[in-house]
Amino acid sequence: MSVYTLPDLSYDYGALEPHLIGKILELHHDKHHAAYVKGANTTLEKMHDARKKEDFATINQLEKSLAFHISGHKLHSILWSNMSPKGGGEPTGAAKTQIEADFGAFGQMQKQFNAATLGVQGSGWGVLSWEPLGGKLLVQQVYDHQGEHAQGAVPILVCDIWEHAFYLQYQNRKAEWVNAFWNVVNWEDVSRRLEDAKKGIFKA
Ligand code: MN
Repeated sequence: MSVYTLPDLSYDYGALEPHLIGKILELHHDKHHAAYVKGANTTLEKMHDARKKEDFATINQLEKSLAFHISGHKLHSILWSNMSPKGGGEPTGAAKTQIEADFGAFGQMQKQFNAATLGVQGSGWGVLSWEPLGGKLLVQQVYDHQGEHAQGAVPILVCDIWEHAFYLQYQNRKAEWVNAFWNVVNWEDVSRRLEDAKKGIFKA
């Protein structure tokens, strides 16, 4: 019985062109994201077996695998809904208000987000998160899917900077991908995620 399931995209593979080509979106969703969902479910099953056998010889690998795959599943689920063919422009609603409160202006947040995303050494993400203890938004880097992100902070806007997210279209021109990303950001979704995060709700 699967705990995690691959969400459908709410738009066609080609709907984000020219900013993101359909072939990338198809592979990224159907192959890469699907693999993280499968990995999360498989790892949970292996943990179940380990408990039954009381054999924890592989527990370190399993724990790392669980964090990697669940985090990959969640970040990709957020990414798909963070993007829209009708996206782009400046933040609106709750996102606009909170970004201006915490960063002064959208441009200030955006510059840090771009630098953090492009600064990832290897595979990872640029993330705007709601940090409930401090009651503010943070721009963070995530290594792989799970590393170096403050515990308990909830990502509300994410940009995938793994090579599989852009290479077929942008090759090594990472900055072009990050610039293109802003043209498809669905600010309504970011606001909805922020409001949910403040209430302790997480919906993929
Ligand atoms: Mn990815």
